[in-house]
Amino acid sequence: MLLQKGITVWFTGLSGAGKTTISKLVETELKKSKLKVEALDGDIVRQHLTADLGFSKEDRQKNIERVVFVAKLLTRNDIIVLASFITPYQQMRDYCRREIGSLVEVYVKCPLEKCIQRDVKGLYKKALNGEIRGFTGISDSFEEPINPEIIVETDQETAKESAAKVLAYLKQHRYIGH
Ligand code: ADP
Repeated sequence: MLLQKGITVWFTGLSGAGKTTISKLVETELKKSKLKVEALDGDIVRQHLTADLGFSKEDRQKNIERVVFVAKLLTRNDIIVLASFITPYQQMRDYCRREIGSLVEVYVKCPLEKCIQRDVKGLYKKALNGEIRGFTGISDSFEEPINPEIIVETDQETAKESAAKVLAYLKQHRYIGH
């Protein structure tokens, strides 16, 4: 049985960059080792915990504040939290780090053009047509992360390679191990 120390792995990046995909691979690997993991995904959280919120700067902040509240409780109980949220502003990411304490920031980096090309959820098309206002990358900014512990470049590496980087970090820093 592996030991684990609480940490929140915070995936930040554009919509379609690969946050959920990589997080799921990490989750599967950790669960194979019988570790306790909880995934908090932007799309799912917004259907439940923060269904009342939109995408204005103010609502985005509230969304993150509620998620951080949950992530903090789990982390302090030694759960490994995998949080996938666009988190477009540096001030938000600083807030997460400050509040949660035990946090590793993963910048899921992918050129906007590539995300538009992938358009996993058809949202870029709508945003470009003006059907969605304040969409990150199109009509709202994504500030480049200043101090992420890990950067994965999903246009240049496979999701599996990116997940391996995250797992290696957790092992190296003894969040998981014997
Ligand atoms: P996000 O959670 O950041 O919005 P998703 O994980 O939902 O992004 O979507 C990313 C899409 O890109 C998926 O369809 C995934 O299969 C694809 N993809 C292609 N290459 C990669 C890669 N190297 N890493 C992650 N996702 C990739």
